[in-house]
Amino acid sequence: MPNDHDVSAFRRDFPLYANLDRPLHYLDNAATAQMHQSAFDAMRRHDTQARGNVLRGNHRLAEAATEAYENARAGVARYLNATTVEEIVFTSGTTAAINLVAGAMGYLLRPGDEIVVSLAEHHSNFLPWQRLQEQGVVLRVLPLTSEGRIDMSLLPAIVGGRCRLIALSHASNVTGAITDLVPVIAAARAVGARVLLDGAQYVQHGRPDMQALGADFYVFSGHKCFGPTGVGVLWGRREALAELPPFMVGGGMVGRVALRESTWAEPPRRFEAGTPPIAQAVGLGAVLDWLVGQPWEQLRSHEEHLFERLLAGLRNIPGVRLLGPADRRERLPVVSFNLGELHPHDVCQVLDERHVALRGGHHCAQPLMEFFGVAATVRASLAAYNDVADVDALLAGLEHARQVLA
Ligand code: PMP
Repeated sequence: MPNDHDVSAFRRDFPLYANLDRPLHYLDNAATAQMHQSAFDAMRRHDTQARGNVLRGNHRLAEAATEAYENARAGVARYLNATTVEEIVFTSGTTAAINLVAGAMGYLLRPGDEIVVSLAEHHSNFLPWQRLQEQGVVLRVLPLTSEGRIDMSLLPAIVGGRCRLIALSHASNVTGAITDLVPVIAAARAVGARVLLDGAQYVQHGRPDMQALGADFYVFSGHKCFGPTGVGVLWGRREALAELPPFMVGGGMVGRVALRESTWAEPPRRFEAGTPPIAQAVGLGAVLDWLVGQPWEQLRSHEEHLFERLLAGLRNIPGVRLLGPADRRERLPVVSFNLGELHPHDVCQVLDERHVALRGGHHCAQPLMEFFGVAATVRASLAAYNDVADVDALLAGLEHARQVLA
């Protein structure tokens, strides 16, 4: 190994690996990463020792639940290097967070206002914006370069004076390409538009710094960064959140409710109607506290080493067509490809029989599939607990698939 990352020690803290009754080469981390022990422990502790509802409690359990939930919020703020904890809104995931911003902004937008997305977006960062067309909002779409990166040279032509928001993925779930944010932020600032970044993929591989990135909104899901399902985060710059009305309304987010008119709580409460995913938020807080202390340089170089081996191996398999950037620079360890004319679902099935877990399909990115001229791809995505054996099992399995499916 080129660095000191001890995969088997790292793996020991992922209970799924401890409980395996068969081999597993889990390479579907872009869909969901395995959950770290810290999240299991924190959720169990919470539900056995501090289970109660948050905010409205008059007893010790409810107070303990509120304290745990707010500590989790503080943990997320630390992880993201947010300016204040009030910038952290808990949601049920990335999709919910983007719908929240789009739905709330929808109240403020006027016909003719423009939203800019790219052709490479996950449907979760495309459809909530596309839907605003129903009220006269104009959706403008940044095209891609030939290798499938967002074409930043076209920013000046696409981001105009009516642009209210640019919504892009921090990294693609299909190609792993990391978005070059500097020109995006500059283009938005030049016209007074907001920027939303979909960090669903990025958070598993790095620690995004809200004060350095310069965006206004950042969203991600717990389950993609070794945390629980059912919880996610919307980070919003304080003034960006303050100008939004609520999206969902109900308990826990009001100032005063009267028969004809009501007032709203300040952020983040304003955006957390109803009982939030309390235990899951506590689990996410714990996992982010663990992630903060990780040797990121080491993890990243381990992933890069594996990814290089994977890309080299794929290039050596006759008939493999790689989609997206050709090398691993400015890219997460995520790769989409096709094996001749074989259907990705068939390839995944053959690989699953060999205990290699992959994803085959359109990856909720149909406009991007269309750009590449395919209906679907096979996708392999690495995490820090993967090892050389996982990569080699995939490569050998693809050779096998080529023979049995041909
Ligand atoms: N955006 C991107 C880039 C993603 O990869 C995903 C998950 N595949 C999502 C959004 C949606 O995340 P979730 O299903 O957790 O809401």
